[in-house]
Amino acid sequence: MELQKRSEVPEELKWDLSLIYPTLEDWQADFDASVKLSEDIEKQFKGKLTDAQTIVDCLAHLEALYKKADLVGNYSSLAVSVDYYDTGNQERASRASSAMAQISSRLAFIDSEILMAPDEVIQEAIRLAKGSKNYLKDLLRKKPHQLSPETEKVLAAFGQSFETPYEIYEMTKLADMKFPSFTVKGKKYPLGYSLFEDDYEYERDTDVRRAAFRAFTRKLRQYENTTAAAYNAQVTTEKVEATVRGFENVFDYLLFDQKVTREMYDRQIDVITEKLAPHMRRYAKLIQKKYGLSEMTFADLKLPLDPDFDPRVTPEEAHKLVRDGLSILGEDYVSMIDEAFRDRWIDFAKNQGKETGGFCASPYGKGSFILLSWNDRMSDVFTIAHELGHAGHFRHANNAQSLFDTDVSGYFVEAPSTMNEVLFTDYLKTTDQDPRFRRWVLSSLISNTYYHNFVTHLREAWYQREVYKIIDEGGSVNAEKLSEIFRKNLELFWGDAVKIIDGAELTWMRQPHYYMGLYSYTYSAGLTVATAAAKRIEREGQPAVDDWKKVLDAGSTLDPTGLAALAGVDIRTDGPLNETIDYIGDIIDEICRLTKEIDGIDA
Ligand SMILES: [Zn+2]
Repeated sequence: MELQKRSEVPEELKWDLSLIYPTLEDWQADFDASVKLSEDIEKQFKGKLTDAQTIVDCLAHLEALYKKADLVGNYSSLAVSVDYYDTGNQERASRASSAMAQISSRLAFIDSEILMAPDEVIQEAIRLAKGSKNYLKDLLRKKPHQLSPETEKVLAAFGQSFETPYEIYEMTKLADMKFPSFTVKGKKYPLGYSLFEDDYEYERDTDVRRAAFRAFTRKLRQYENTTAAAYNAQVTTEKVEATVRGFENVFDYLLFDQKVTREMYDRQIDVITEKLAPHMRRYAKLIQKKYGLSEMTFADLKLPLDPDFDPRVTPEEAHKLVRDGLSILGEDYVSMIDEAFRDRWIDFAKNQGKETGGFCASPYGKGSFILLSWNDRMSDVFTIAHELGHAGHFRHANNAQSLFDTDVSGYFVEAPSTMNEVLFTDYLKTTDQDPRFRRWVLSSLISNTYYHNFVTHLREAWYQREVYKIIDEGGSVNAEKLSEIFRKNLELFWGDAVKIIDGAELTWMRQPHYYMGLYSYTYSAGLTVATAAAKRIEREGQPAVDDWKKVLDAGSTLDPTGLAALAGVDIRTDGPLNETIDYIGDIIDEICRLTKEIDGIDA
C-alpha cells in the first residue's frame, strides 16, 4: 500500500510545531538574533576572559544564545524528520546547521580561554556563577586532559576526518549493500536491511525466517573486510586520543564524559552476562517448544510468544491508558500527559518521507515533540509511555535548571523512559484478568524492554569491551578476529539453549553504536536504575514517587550515582542489578506458568 503524502495527513495526527514558533517569520527572527548574539559575544568577550566576573557574565550571554539556538535548531530538524521531501524544510534545516557550526567555531574561544585561566580564577567563577556553575566545574575537570591551544586547534581542524570511519560504515550499509531476493518453495521474497530487521526476524514461517537470515548474512559477509577496517580505524583513533590526552587507558577516556567509574561499567557487563543468561535460556526454550522447533537457533530468537494475540487500540484509547497507567506519578504528571494529547505533542502519522522509529525532543522552555508511527497496536502505547518518560524528565529538568544543567549522562538518560514502561506494565496487568492478556503483557515487557536493553545491547557491550582490551594493549582487529569475539560472546551467553548458526557472528556489523564510544551498555544501566526505583514505588508509594520527582528535577546537576541515590537506589553496589535480574526471572517464571495453563506446554 502506497503511503500518503504529508499534506494528506489529518491535522489531529500531526504534532504542532507552532508551539515553538507560530510562523516561519518568528523562526527567522530568532535565527538572525542567534547569529547577532554570537557576534556580540565575540566582540565583547574575546581575549578578555581572564577574571571570574567576566567569565560568569560571558557564560550568562552564552546561555541566552543557546536558548534561542536550541529552539531554532529543533524547529527546523523536527520539521525535516516528518517530511523529508519538503524542500523548504530541507533548506531551513541545512541553513540552521551551518549557522550553528559557524556560531560554535566563532565561540570556541570561550572554553579555551577559560581553561587557560588559573584554577583559582575558575574556582572563584564557580562561586559567583548561578546557571553556569556545573558547566565551569566540568571544564575544570577536563583541564588536566586539555592540550595546548595550537594542538587543540589542529585536532579540531581534523574533526571531520575523525568522522570518516562512521561515514564509511553508513555508506557501506545504506548505499552499497544491495540485498537480492531469496526463494523458498518456489516463492520469491524481497530482502532489504530494515525489511530483515523489522519483518523477517519475526516471521512465523520457519523456512522463510531462516532463509531470510542466510540471505541477509551472506550479503553482510561480502562487506566484512571493509567494515572491519573502518571499525579498526575508529577504535585505534580513540586509543590515540586517549593516550595524547593523558588517560591511563582507553576505557577511562571513553567513560570520562559519562561520569561513571570503570567498576560500574564492568559490573553491568559481568553480572548480566552471568546471572541473566539462565533466565533468557529458559525463555528461548519456551519459544522453541511453543513453535515446535527441533532446534532453537540464533535466527529464531525474536519470535513472539503469542503472535495471534494482538490487542488493537486507537490514539484516544492510548491517551486514557497511559493517563491511568502513569497516574501514580501524580496530578502534575497526568496533566502533562493531557497537555501532550490536547496540544498535539505527538506525531502519529505514517506518511512518505517521515523518519521511522521513535524519539522525543524537548526544546528548552517549550513542550516536547514525540515522533512515532502509529499502527493501532498496544506496542505503540508502550512507545508513547516510553517517550512521555523523556518528556516528563525534561519538563521537570528544564523548569528547574539552567540550560547548562539539562545535559544528563547517557548512563541515566533512559531511566525515566523505561521507568514508565515498567509502571505501565504493572498497571496493564490489573486491567484484565484473562491469562492470555496477562501473558501478552509480560512477554511484551520481556521481548521489548528487557530483551532489547539487557540482551541485544549488552552483548554488544561485552563484545566492545573485548575489542577495546585488544586495542588498549596496542593490538588491532580484523574481520576474522571480530567474528571470533562475537561468536564466543553469543556462545557464552546462550550456552546449549541456542545454536549459534553461521552468520550470527557477523552481528558486529549490524550496529552503528560501535562508533559512539561506550554507549551500548548504558541501555542496561538506565533500565537497572528504573527497575529498582519502580519496585521502590510499588513498595513504598508516595515517598518513593516524591524522590523520583526530585531526580527528574535534578537534570545534570548530579552524576549518575548521585541521581540514583536521590531515587533511593545505590548503584555503587550490585544490589539494584541483582534485583532487576531477579525481577526478570520472576516474570519469565510466570510466563512459563501461564503457558502451561493456556497451551499445556511444559517449559
Ligand atoms: Zn528512549
